Amino acid sequence: MRFTPFFIPSTKEKEATILGFVGDMLLTTEDNSLPCSSHFETLGEPLHCFDIGKVEAQTFSLHIWDKSSLLPQDLVKINLKSVLNTYPIDIIEALIRAKQLVHWLLDNVYCGRCGNALVFSSKMSALTCKACGHFSFPRLSPACIVLVTRGEEILLARSPHFSSTIYSLLAGFVEAGESAEACARREVKEEVGIDITNLRYFGTQTWPFPHSFMIGFFAEYAGGDIVLQPEEIEDAQWFTKETLPTLPYSSSIAHQMIKTWLDSKL
Ligand SMILES: [Zn+2]
Repeated sequence: MRFTPFFIPSTKEKEATILGFVGDMLLTTEDNSLPCSSHFETLGEPLHCFDIGKVEAQTFSLHIWDKSSLLPQDLVKINLKSVLNTYPIDIIEALIRAKQLVHWLLDNVYCGRCGNALVFSSKMSALTCKACGHFSFPRLSPACIVLVTRGEEILLARSPHFSSTIYSLLAGFVEAGESAEACARREVKEEVGIDITNLRYFGTQTWPFPHSFMIGFFAEYAGGDIVLQPEEIEDAQWFTKETLPTLPYSSSIAHQMIKTWLDSKL
């Protein structure tokens, strides 16, 4: 059972699951459940209304209302990141896609080339400008995330914007013209002054806060002492399986990579 993405103006299928947003905030009932279609009736016509994918016969429909919309009493708006782990996997996949499309649709009202309005393209999953023919595709920003080991130790770091006590893996965006492997080596060197070797691909994850495409690598320590890049990293330390700090969200690729290392015989 996997999520199949597509992007078409909503067919208003009665059985579709509506993923409702006001601005970039998810609408839920007070117990964080996804509302049924009747909950949205008083909100009126959405700014955007697209069918965005399917799991088997279940269609997911993205509806976005203006962020200043007056909410019905039984709905609340929440940051998706805070509740993502509470949904089943097929809903999580749909919500991740929805959230990335929300950012894209809200950030691409006008053509970046000529300034005219962008409209849905019937030729591909994109927005297009009828005046100049420019296409806008959903934005994905590739970023490398690296689990570095040194013997039985793992390198974890804190960014100043993390919740207190959480440590995670080192990560950074791929520069234009750069390979993912070169990015992984550069980011670890820049952020903590460590050289790495023996990169092994782990997997990828779309992470919609706001539009990252995470590429995971395992790597081994090759040399150097920890020297923090102060504007990016607040603290970095070598930990063992017995001394691990608080880990990041369980649905994140960082958590999955650390869990894989924990379960390994390394
Ligand atoms: Zn244009």
